[in-house]
This record gives sequence, structure tokens and C-alpha cells, in this order.
Amino acid sequence: MGSFQTRVRKGKVVVVMGATGTGKSRLAIDLAVHFDGEVVNSDKMQLYDGLDVVTNKVTEEETRGIPHHLLGGVPQDADFTASDYRRAAGRVVDAIARRGRLPVVAGGSNSYIEELIDGAGREFRSRYECCFLWVDVQSKELHQFVAERVDRMLERGLVEEVRAIFDLEADYGRGIRKAIGVPEMDGFLRAEEGAHEGTKARLLEAAIDEIKANTCKLTCCQLQKINRLRGLPGWDVHCVDATDVFRKRGEEADRAWEEVVSGPSIEMVQKFLNQ
Ligand code: ATP
Repeated sequence: MGSFQTRVRKGKVVVVMGATGTGKSRLAIDLAVHFDGEVVNSDKMQLYDGLDVVTNKVTEEETRGIPHHLLGGVPQDADFTASDYRRAAGRVVDAIARRGRLPVVAGGSNSYIEELIDGAGREFRSRYECCFLWVDVQSKELHQFVAERVDRMLERGLVEEVRAIFDLEADYGRGIRKAIGVPEMDGFLRAEEGAHEGTKARLLEAAIDEIKANTCKLTCCQLQKINRLRGLPGWDVHCVDATDVFRKRGEEADRAWEEVVSGPSIEMVQKFLNQ
């Protein structure tokens, strides 16, 4: 007779990885809708309360009624570490699995994902099998998309959001103020009172350019981290190439999404769940 450990069937977890802007959140929601799941955020900036536009949290409408966990809730000045995340996300995954639903971990903070899955003696691995999906988009298309996304964030209130947490003594090295979009606005917000209109406009333009450049840099760093993880034992990461979706618009883009991203991902997860 096998030991207790070998007889207990492990739980199953889906992990959606990818650089910012690739559509991880959308895929996680598609999977949760299809497989009766709940989403667990693994973006280290979206864990904090506030800055919903700057950190690009999913909107209520986008969630399509799927419960999202660890999206906000951490105080803005707290320093939430990777180990804090491992403990919190581990508890949330356990609770979802106990409800008989599928936990879908999704977000761009690969060091936090690694800590959840392989940290603290790989305890998570002893209880769960993981299916890793990586939404990839070629850099030309992705950089263009994230730059345009910054323009949309401006329309949705990026400046007002950052102004609301602006503090002359702010420490940009901790908590939510580390988020791309916050330190870059410092020069503009400092000059807001008193500076000439022309100076302010130039400072705002420079801040926007810097936010775009830093977001593009972030996508490159995230890609490097995913490639490192793919080389480790136990990280059988399935790549879904979403580039085609970004070359299309409107309904055509939606059809491409189903054809090259959500359809193949649903098939992969179905196989994983049947194993
Ligand atoms: P590491 O902890 O080694 O930096 P990581 O993969 O966990 O790795 P990322 O999630 O890539 O880290 O985040 C790195 C930095 O990018 C963050 O500290 C923050 O400045 C910025 N960043 C990440 N996600 C967001 C976001 N949603 N909104 C704004 N800025 C972000």
C-alpha cells in the first residue's frame, strides 16, 4: 500500500503568465468562465489598494462576474514581500480548491509566481499540479500596444490618480509608489503649482514618454524572467502566441483571440484536467 502522500490526489492549478499588455487577465477570465474557476492575482502592484488605472486592474465589467482575489486589499505604504504573497496566495488557492473550483493564478510578477510555486521547500508543489500557460506577443506589436494603452490611461484619469497620492516627501522605493506611472510624474506634479503653462506641458509630455519607455522595458524584463523559469525543472510552460490578435481590430481581433489564444488554451487546460 502506498504512503498517505502518494495516495492523496493533488489539486490542480492553472497559471497564466506573460508580459504586461498581452491579455493574461482576459485569458484567465475566459478559463475561469469555461472551467468554473476563480482568479488569483499575481501582479505585485495590483495587490495594493488604489491606482486602479495606473496598474491596469480589471474593471468590474471585465471580470464577467468571476471572483478575483488579491486584487487590492494591501495598504498602499505596506511592503508586501514575495513570502507574504506565497502565504496569502497559498491560502486563497486552498480555499478555491476546497470550494471545488479551479484556481487560475494570473499576473506579470514572475518572482512572486516562482515564490508561490517553488518557495518554502516547494510545499505548494506537494499539494498541487500546475499547468503553465504563457501568452506571448512579439515585441513590436506589444510595445506599440502598451504605449497606446498609456494614452488610454491618461483619458481614464492617470494624472488625477497619481496626483491624489502625490506627497512631496514620498518614498518611491516602497509600496504602490514603485508602480510605473508614479515616480515618472514626480517632476510634473512638483512643478504644478507655480510653473508656467508651457513648462508644465513639457514636463507632462516628458513624464508620459518615460512611462511608455519604462512599460516597454518592463515587458522585456518580464520576458527574460519567463525564459529563465522555462529552463527550470517543473516549469513546462505552454506558449500561446497572441501576436495575430494585435494585428487586427474590433471583431476580427476578437475572432483571432478565440482562434489562437482562448481556444487552444481551453484545449490544453482540458487535457491537464483530464490527466
Ligand atoms: P522582481 O521582483 O525581481 O522585480 P517581478 O517579475 O516580480 O521581478 P515585476 O512584476 O516584473 O517584478 O515588476 C517589476 C517592477 O515593474 C515593479 O516593481 C513596478 O515598478 C513595475 N510594475 C510591475 N507591474 C506593474 C503594474 N501593474 N503597474 C505598474 N507598474 C508595475
